[in-house]
Amino acid sequence: MATLDRVARSFLLGELVSGMALTLKTMFKPKHTINYPYEKGPLSPRFRGEHALRRYPNGEERCIACKLCEAVCPAQAITIEAEPRADGSRRTTRYDIDMTKCIYCGFCQEACPVDAIVEGPNFEFATETREELFYNKQKLLENGERWEAEIASNIALDAPYR
Ligand code: SF4
Ligand code: SF4
Repeated sequence: MATLDRVARSFLLGELVSGMALTLKTMFKPKHTINYPYEKGPLSPRFRGEHALRRYPNGEERCIACKLCEAVCPAQAITIEAEPRADGSRRTTRYDIDMTKCIYCGFCQEACPVDAIVEGPNFEFATETREELFYNKQKLLENGERWEAEIASNIALDAPYR
């Protein structure tokens, strides 16, 4: 019995020493984790995050209400209504995205002839209610204003591969 105890103790000591050695070895290696949300990992320029509607630098809306994004959306998440303006140009009077239906396929962005609707770099838009995920035109345009610098830079970075 005493011999068995000695064997067990020496086995446990061996395990402890090898565990400590592994800890010490790993401690000085580059870490694989980040301290989210204070640190964030890199994102591809093609990352498909929260949607945004963009404007031209002069403030005019890019969207020409062609409805291609609405037609191509496989989740039928986009609803658009449009009217001609007094100057004859066509613009949306309603642009809604039901983010609870969206599957982040990026088809709307791909279909848009004027880079108006895009999936921007923002992935932190969790909400407490479903209603907050029913985006309207104002919300989408505000997203565009907030993220325009990053969106424009990502489109420019991706352009050579298209
Ligand atoms: S990303 Fe896909 S599912 Fe989402 S709104 Fe665009 S086309 Fe529809
Ligand atoms: S966002 Fe683009 S694809 Fe959709 S209606 Fe406007 S111009 Fe057309």
